[in-house]
Amino acid sequence: MLVFSIFTYLEEIMSKDSKIWARTSDVSLISYLGTLGILLFTPFMVFYFYVAVMSFGGSLWEPAALMMSGKMTLGEFWTLCPSLSGTAFLIFGVWFLLQVCFYYLPDILHAFLPNYVGGNCLGAVTPAGNQLRYNINGLQAWCLSHLLFLMATALLGWFSASIIFDNWGGLLWVVNIVGYAVAIFAFVKAYYFPSHPQDRKFSGNFLYDFYMGIELNPRIGQFDFKLFFNGRPGIVAWTLINISFAAAQYNLYGYVTNSMILVNFLHALYVVYFFWNEAWYLRTIDIHHDHFGWMLAWGDCVWLPYMYTLQGFYLVMNPVQLSLPFTLFVLAFGLLGYFIFHSANRQKDLFRKSDGEYRILGKPASFLEVSYSAADGKERRTKLLTSGWWGMARHSNYTGDLILSLAYSLACGFEHVLPYFYFFFLGTLLIHRCIRDEDRCRKKYGEGWNEYCRQVPYRLIPGIF
Ligand code: NDP
Repeated sequence: MLVFSIFTYLEEIMSKDSKIWARTSDVSLISYLGTLGILLFTPFMVFYFYVAVMSFGGSLWEPAALMMSGKMTLGEFWTLCPSLSGTAFLIFGVWFLLQVCFYYLPDILHAFLPNYVGGNCLGAVTPAGNQLRYNINGLQAWCLSHLLFLMATALLGWFSASIIFDNWGGLLWVVNIVGYAVAIFAFVKAYYFPSHPQDRKFSGNFLYDFYMGIELNPRIGQFDFKLFFNGRPGIVAWTLINISFAAAQYNLYGYVTNSMILVNFLHALYVVYFFWNEAWYLRTIDIHHDHFGWMLAWGDCVWLPYMYTLQGFYLVMNPVQLSLPFTLFVLAFGLLGYFIFHSANRQKDLFRKSDGEYRILGKPASFLEVSYSAADGKERRTKLLTSGWWGMARHSNYTGDLILSLAYSLACGFEHVLPYFYFFFLGTLLIHRCIRDEDRCRKKYGEGWNEYCRQVPYRLIPGIF
């Protein structure tokens, strides 16, 4: 998540221990100030966006302009912010417990059906040389959660499908409390009962460590904090939040706009892809590089469910009906982005899984063999794919992701900039990621990485960047 980690990069390029491919341990003044700013600023930003949608028709500028011109005081702005509610606590509590139970489902099933092994797989080798086992079942959790929601709303009528939107303000407080609590717990745990002491990183700066995380893979027993919080409860909820927004739009106007359906569909593609390929997720930067601190804990609990779903939220208050040609254009554009995103990730994943024995468009994949060593001193070898999407640009998967995210925004029309926030955020995040990831790969693979960059010179768009 870049908005939170932009300063990591500044810190990494200024760091002295540049031979280590794990997170560095020196913190510059600029990183420190950046961390402080992000910790203080971003929680307010989420509240600001909430107020902009609920009270100013989606205008990001109006509340700021009113405050700057003295027509609205901070106190008056505060009265527009949501308040904490018991119902929101109850909803989140039930949701959270349900997700914990689903997380353990493979173990429960295994106890009754000894032949059932679930999604047992290994993660990447960590800088300290650990390789962790995971039992992934995100798709199972996603399907069960949606089935239960459908039953509780449509079949049993226990509550309205708009329940999430109806409590969106109260929930904002609850997730903030949970996000901070998890971050504090992870911080204390890293000092007093770490899971893998050698994979911890201390910078000597209290605030920075709290923000970026100390432990790479904190666990309690088999409960993996990063896998759980990164994927669930936030990403499982993403599609339910969107369904709830669609239901709220229906309750308000008596119809659901084609833009809302389009946003629901394109977001659902992304979310289902994530869980369908959860094993792939174990080999992404989130899992094998980022440490677990406030950035991930708060980001997963608050930033993701609130800022990634902004388009649906905006459309509840601003119902946009698109023309048929424009709807089809946005759909085609989104599907193109999804295709690139999906096939680029798939190519790399299958290539790595098959140890290079992989064919792209009927031809054997070309690759570069590189070596690296972890803290245990053992030299290991791996391969970098240089054909297919990965022969065109070093981060084609990011390009696809960006096209798809622009499609979400286009679906909301052109009246306000707010629905485009996610596109700009993701653009900044992924460009920063390219730089951060490449910096790490250069440290890890040395000259091998430089040769790879010579063979595949562009990052996102061949011939341009
Ligand atoms: P990648 O999945 O691209 O993983 C990068 C890693 O892959 C590198 O560190 C390196 O790891 C390995 N690698 C790099 N080049 C090659 C190659 N040519 N052949 C084989 N392996 C290679 O990055 P992310 O984890 O950042 O992203 C995963 C997906 O998630 C992307 O599609 C991205 O768009 C999406 N994403 C979405 C976000 C969101 O908020 N919506 C946020 C972040 C990502 P190694 O050390 O193993 O060599």
